[in-house]
Amino acid sequence: MKIRIRKLLWPDTCPFCGKVNQKGVCLACAEKLEGLLVREPRCLKCGKPVRYKEQEYCYDCAHSCHDYDRGAALWLHREPVSTSVYRFKYHNQRFYAQAYAAQIAAQYGALIRKWNPQVIIPVPLHKRRRRKRGYNQAELLAEEAGRILKIPVAKGLVERVRYTVPQKKLDSKKRRQNLKRVFVVRASSIRLRSVLIMDDIYTTGATIDSLARVLKAAGVQKVYFLTISIGQGY
Ligand SMILES: [Zn+2]
Ligand SMILES: [Zn+2]
Repeated sequence: MKIRIRKLLWPDTCPFCGKVNQKGVCLACAEKLEGLLVREPRCLKCGKPVRYKEQEYCYDCAHSCHDYDRGAALWLHREPVSTSVYRFKYHNQRFYAQAYAAQIAAQYGALIRKWNPQVIIPVPLHKRRRRKRGYNQAELLAEEAGRILKIPVAKGLVERVRYTVPQKKLDSKKRRQNLKRVFVVRASSIRLRSVLIMDDIYTTGATIDSLARVLKAAGVQKVYFLTISIGQGY
């Protein structure tokens, strides 16, 4: 019912340029998105594009350790993806989750099935921030992807217990410090073999690492991630 009301009041718009378009993503944006898809060769750890086929890891992953096992992102974090994700996150454009999840399933369905996660875990927001924003964008994405891929979403499993300053204001080292003891697993023991973390953007991996750390300490064996976009950096 909600959806029908929305459709009556507002025409459908392209989640990338914001122009009215009945079929969701417009042709011009679809073409640009095709060029932004993260393709091979990719970093074997974070999934970022690398320059040469022989290169196993990106610069970041070759020089640091991650707590997660492996991950992938759909698009490079450039226009029109960056503006779209920004509106999805801060301007209540919740329905963008459908377009992102459909693309994630089309592009990475086979890989996700190979990883075989028992649940999808959206990166939780602190309840104060969630109340202010009204929703958790990672959760919307996880729910849409879970529906398409038929994987349950574990929402209350991990809680963000510390209110932190936004990561984008910090450098890489400060990001890691900012995320210490931020997440807590809300179960005494979880016997999960494999989980998939979902978030909007992968930048340095500090958030995913922090979450992966508590999940592994709680007994999860394999932690994978998928994000809508990823920064580039060889
Ligand atoms: Zn468009
Ligand atoms: Zn990497």
